[in-house]
Amino acid sequence: MYFRDISVVDHLGQARENMHLVTTEDKITWLSDNAPPADLIEKVEVYEGKNRVLLPGLYNMHCHVPMTLLRGYGEGLPLQRWLEEKMYPFEALMDADDMYWGTLLGIYEMLASGVVSFSDMYMRLDGIFQAVLESGIKANLNNPLTGDENTDIKQDIAYLEVMQLIKDCRTTNGHIRAEAGLHAEYTSSERVVQDVVTWAKEQNLHLQVHLSETKKEHTECKERHQGLTPTAYLHSFGFFDQPTVAAHGVYLEDSDLTILRAKDVTIAHCPTSNLKLGSGIAPLAKFLRHGVKVTIGTDGASSNNNLNMMEEISLAALLAKGINKDPSLMSATEIMPLVTINAARAQGRTNCGRLEVGAQADLFVMDLSRPHLQPIYDLPANIFYSGQSSDVVLTMVEGKVLYRDGAATLIDLERVLFEVNRIRTEKLRQLS
Ligand SMILES: [Zn+2]
Repeated sequence: MYFRDISVVDHLGQARENMHLVTTEDKITWLSDNAPPADLIEKVEVYEGKNRVLLPGLYNMHCHVPMTLLRGYGEGLPLQRWLEEKMYPFEALMDADDMYWGTLLGIYEMLASGVVSFSDMYMRLDGIFQAVLESGIKANLNNPLTGDENTDIKQDIAYLEVMQLIKDCRTTNGHIRAEAGLHAEYTSSERVVQDVVTWAKEQNLHLQVHLSETKKEHTECKERHQGLTPTAYLHSFGFFDQPTVAAHGVYLEDSDLTILRAKDVTIAHCPTSNLKLGSGIAPLAKFLRHGVKVTIGTDGASSNNNLNMMEEISLAALLAKGINKDPSLMSATEIMPLVTINAARAQGRTNCGRLEVGAQADLFVMDLSRPHLQPIYDLPANIFYSGQSSDVVLTMVEGKVLYRDGAATLIDLERVLFEVNRIRTEKLRQLS
């Protein structure tokens, strides 16, 4: 596709006008203020860039995508009661087919807000994998381990599913990546943590984990483990020797940040979910000040209640300004790398997350002619402080247009909506 005469805000938050970008197969093959040579655009579609801005695709770095099926189920409860009284009983009834439909619904939402890749922790990976594969989006998937001292992870369904996923991913050319996951310190015995670490090292898998999400989790861990915070406790097993994305980090202490920086751990900051479950507000600006890597995620739709990355980024930036009483924080040049190139690196995707010739063609386009985006003095700031996900008019992953003018190209929304409402009705009947 040839994006002609279009504004560009790149992965470093730098804006340029009247640019020309060409994608050939899955790569960006031209990016310049000069028009491309004729032979490069001979048989490609021309996309007129007037009143449009093109950006590198966004990464949703913490999600439980099939939880779209639980959107709005269990409102008003704190994390522990929300999990035990609402989520776990519903989840116990969900099969691979349910996961498939819930995943497609979530992917639809993500594509509609410029997301090209996501990191996910959930079960029934066969259903999730199939939906990701058909939709064309990229994902790093795992089924997180939990268990007590009697748990042999190698007999556990989560382990077996990931081992199968490793095989399934081999045919996706890195498009879908298998990872190992630990749900959290508070849902795992020492034996489980040790075995997950050993397994991740054996298979050289990246890790995902929930870390210091609530005050209860953080303080009870210290009581259980001779004053060790969840970070220090996991560190004592060598957990962070593998590349790790740790979600939340609301209650991280300075000593934790020292460990996370030294071990190159990436925090997935999920502000909406933390607010909605009353968990608190993670200190994003402090993480960055300490040199800890940070990305942003929506968490599951059941605690958000949507998978709108545009909204998530805007909230993260506004909260950082507000709680630090500093309006200079989180400029576009600070925000953009977090949700693009840094996130791609955390997913182990070295040729992604940036607008450069030779990089994978993962991008999205916004319509600037909307009333709330005009006039424009500072384009990068307009994207996140004025823009809405409904301004996204095109999302491309590896050169394929997956979302355009209000509709995903490979997902039948009518069918998905029918199926998720069928599932809702069935589950409520089973739970009553
Ligand atoms: Zn989560």
